[in-house]
Amino acid sequence: MKELILEALRESVKRYPDLVQHLSDKATWIAIEGDLSLWQAKAITQVRNGEPALCEFDSALIPDSVAEVVKNLLAYADCEEQVKQDFIDLKSFVIQPTPNEKRILSRIELERKLTKVLSKDLQDELKKLLNYLGNPPNLSNVPYSYWQTGWKLIAKHAEPILVDFFVSQAIEAMEEVNMAVDVVTLSTDAIQWATNNSEQWLQQAFNKTYEGVNVLVPKAYEEGWTITELAKKLEDYHYSPVRAEMIAITEMTRAHTEGRKATERHYFEQFGVHRVPIWKTANDEKVCPVCGDEMRLDMPITDDMYPPAHPRCRCRINYLAEKFLTPKQRGKWQSK
Ligand SMILES: [Zn+2]
Repeated sequence: MKELILEALRESVKRYPDLVQHLSDKATWIAIEGDLSLWQAKAITQVRNGEPALCEFDSALIPDSVAEVVKNLLAYADCEEQVKQDFIDLKSFVIQPTPNEKRILSRIELERKLTKVLSKDLQDELKKLLNYLGNPPNLSNVPYSYWQTGWKLIAKHAEPILVDFFVSQAIEAMEEVNMAVDVVTLSTDAIQWATNNSEQWLQQAFNKTYEGVNVLVPKAYEEGWTITELAKKLEDYHYSPVRAEMIAITEMTRAHTEGRKATERHYFEQFGVHRVPIWKTANDEKVCPVCGDEMRLDMPITDDMYPPAHPRCRCRINYLAEKFLTPKQRGKWQSK
């Protein structure tokens, strides 16, 4: 049935090309994707023959605005892979993400950036540690300063990303209620928070690593591991990309919470009213056992415990005026 409707849509657009401008993003994509893949095939053939990827394509369906973008992209494509990538990217141009999708995408993008930064820094710290340990590894070779200063460098790299996210979260919340946005004040809030916060979580992370290394190195000695085996274990337990990702996700959530809280302080200054913080789960966290609790989810926060509730928590908060609370929410709010 669905295929029949899609076919009818394609046929109608073929007959009345002007229809395209009245279609939604997704319908446009369905109507033109057949022609676009022919265009892609043509460009690929050109590249294979050693000719430029840029080529004209005669289509009654593809709107001029889209054709223009295709030609711009192809002008810079110099290999088959690039041509394919261009047509993939084109889809996200034609189908504009909804505000909610955009919000999730920008968070994921920053999360990846932070994970990458942290992964690299952890790798560097591991290299430094192995250098100090020497072969055979000796713990007393590692200066205490290694555990005290390493995290400061990581903080310097991570903070700007967290500051960015804090500010974007605050602005988003302010725009929702048409508040005047003062980016300078927000940035000051954000930098102050990020500095204090990274001192805490990174020093904690390093303390944990310190304890772990103090267990692993003697074990390596007792069990006769090679230095490569020890390095592998150190990486897996303490310096891995998985750990970097876990830290990135959790700290991004903290930045979100703090950005929202900052907005709320400014809201109070401006309107003299306190609103109610509501715990919202992330779209991908439906089964999170900690946050899926029905006394927590979509309910007012009354115990001053804000997300993240656990490592890798992607929960959010939303502030609501008291008059918008449901009876169930109101019950919990008033019992605090
Ligand atoms: Zn959560």
